[in-house]
Amino acid sequence: MDAVNPATGERVDSYDAHTEHEVDDALERASVDFEDWRERPMRDRERLLESVADTLRENEGEYAETMTREMGKPVEQAVAEVEKCALCCDHYAEHASAYLGADHHPSPPGSSAKTVHEPLGPVLAVMPWNFPFWQVFRFAAPSLTAGNVGLLKHASNVPGCALAIESVFRDAGYPEGVFQSLLIPSERVEPVLADDRVRAATVTGSGPAGRAVAATAGDHLKKTVLELGGSDPFVVLDDADVAAAAETGAWARNQNGGQSCIAAKRFVVHTDVYDEFLRRFTDEFESLVVGDPMDDGTDLGPQARPELLSDLHDQVTASVDAGATVVTGGEPLDRAGAFYPPTILTDVPEGCPVDSEETFGPVAAVYEVADESSAVELANDTEFGLGASVWTEDRDRGERVAGRIDAGCVYVNQLVKSDPRVPFGGVNDSGYGRELAGAGIREFVNRKTVWVE
Ligand code: NAP
Repeated sequence: MDAVNPATGERVDSYDAHTEHEVDDALERASVDFEDWRERPMRDRERLLESVADTLRENEGEYAETMTREMGKPVEQAVAEVEKCALCCDHYAEHASAYLGADHHPSPPGSSAKTVHEPLGPVLAVMPWNFPFWQVFRFAAPSLTAGNVGLLKHASNVPGCALAIESVFRDAGYPEGVFQSLLIPSERVEPVLADDRVRAATVTGSGPAGRAVAATAGDHLKKTVLELGGSDPFVVLDDADVAAAAETGAWARNQNGGQSCIAAKRFVVHTDVYDEFLRRFTDEFESLVVGDPMDDGTDLGPQARPELLSDLHDQVTASVDAGATVVTGGEPLDRAGAFYPPTILTDVPEGCPVDSEETFGPVAAVYEVADESSAVELANDTEFGLGASVWTEDRDRGERVAGRIDAGCVYVNQLVKSDPRVPFGGVNDSGYGRELAGAGIREFVNRKTVWVE
């Protein structure tokens, strides 16, 4: 498996995929170590998670550079990602016991009824390259602390990240079988998931990956959580703070090179503030620094792989052919590496790619709408349902509009972000299940009811 630096096109490193025999050994270790791990007192598991947070913080520069070399995210953003992983560990080290405490139920006099939360066993985590550390930790921190063990199948372009994450857990003192990386391509996921030793799966990735894993898991009656794509609306109402909306909106679209499931992708703007928003928004896009992701001060690095840049440009080109107007950007940059400029399209026809598909790069579609109802209608005109952002100076109005938007989360006067304190996940084609907070740690558990007469 080759890791290629998308900023230069040079090979970073090459790794041998695990053989079938090695994968089988890993499944056996997972299954054996689970029996001991599940019996450990919760306090032990929480303490180990504190050590993971320490290990992450001690080595954040090294981990950040591994990410940047393999998938091109600006190194400052990579450092922030490692710190966020450590915060997620802090959160579950503090709250896991409370989240997993028994639920007590009404029962007849003289009896008691409660639900306890027991781990399921080895969980397969199929993960994407875009936040190569965060996506893994937001699964692993809660799930391992609940007593499960993890098997990571990371995206094929970030094998160095996969191995670095495995070493984080080892260095923090976890038994070998509690967290392991399987270096395998996606074609080899099915037999792993079908194996009796694997009890459940979580996927963060595209719709096709989610469907494939869910289908296999369904055949074998295994629980899944799916965190899939999105085409989040960013709604700017007539009473919004337009300057703040334009500044935050530009960052919501362009951070991580625009390669985020919860990036704002469709900007739905009330006609009364449309011209001002578009002017400010364009200024923000044009002021972003595109360049070497290893340089501090770079806002946007390259797209993670050359073919992802081609796919993105095809979406832009087809949308322009269908009638969209390019306000800024719109052509790959004439330099080595997979660099695409921050791009804004207006006059976006219904059904063209930037309207109906997920754009996984720095491309914003901006729409002008007549009123609040049309804004809500357009925001909901998507097969996805991950996040949404609504901008208004009237907080009650913001909550009311949030209630009408079909998504897993709505942020008013803020960009959509994941935070260990609140549940995260989508509806419709964005998947099902939740990660983070109490909801996340209760996904991979047996909610066992115990009735005592
Ligand atoms: P991807 O191509 O679906 O890959 C994600 C993972 O799934 C990789 O490990 C990939 O392995 C594996 N995979 C792909 N096809 C598979 C199949 N048929 N069976 C089993 N495994 C399969 O997605 P990506 O390009 O890495 O990531 C971008 C997508 O992830 C976007 O759609 C984005 O919105 C979504 N995403 C969602 C969230 C969320 O929380 N909802 C967060 C981040 C990203 P290989 O690399 O070996 O192909």
